[in-house]
Amino acid sequence: MLVQQILKSKADDGVVTLASGATVSEAAALLSSRKIGTIVISNDGKTAEGILSERDIVRELGRRGAGCMTDQIGEVMTTNIVTCALGDPVDDILQQMTDGRFRHIPVVEDGALVGLISIGDVVKAKLSELAMEKDALQGMIMGH
Ligand code: AMP
Repeated sequence: MLVQQILKSKADDGVVTLASGATVSEAAALLSSRKIGTIVISNDGKTAEGILSERDIVRELGRRGAGCMTDQIGEVMTTNIVTCALGDPVDDILQQMTDGRFRHIPVVEDGALVGLISIGDVVKAKLSELAMEKDALQGMIMGH
């Protein structure tokens, strides 16, 4: 299974982005209203310059307290981001998420952001693949 198959199956394949000059407070409000765990930081809406996850906000709150809420996202975001391409195998993405201990990977084609895969998307796709394999094997055993 490839990344593009997961993106096609997502009801909403848009990516929520914010510019690096927005504040952590604005990011928290967006995470809350969209019920998501991460925002891709992009100043042109196309290039993924960083990622700000709920975990980054919690880490800063724990370290510095509520004062961090007025910081610009650019000071807090992760800039060394791992991205994937539409043709990448989903198993490789799962391995990267496990090794890197993160739950989101932006999908980038020709330098432009085209989607975002979460660990929830991957688990859902793997479960449906397993269910299809089970049905196929049962069919073979039962002679259907
Ligand atoms: P997450 O589990 O995705 O909420 O993120 C956990 C930590 O990993 C946070 O510090 C994020 O900024 C960072 N992170 C999330 N996604 C990525 C990614 N694709 N590449 C690198 N770091 C990431």
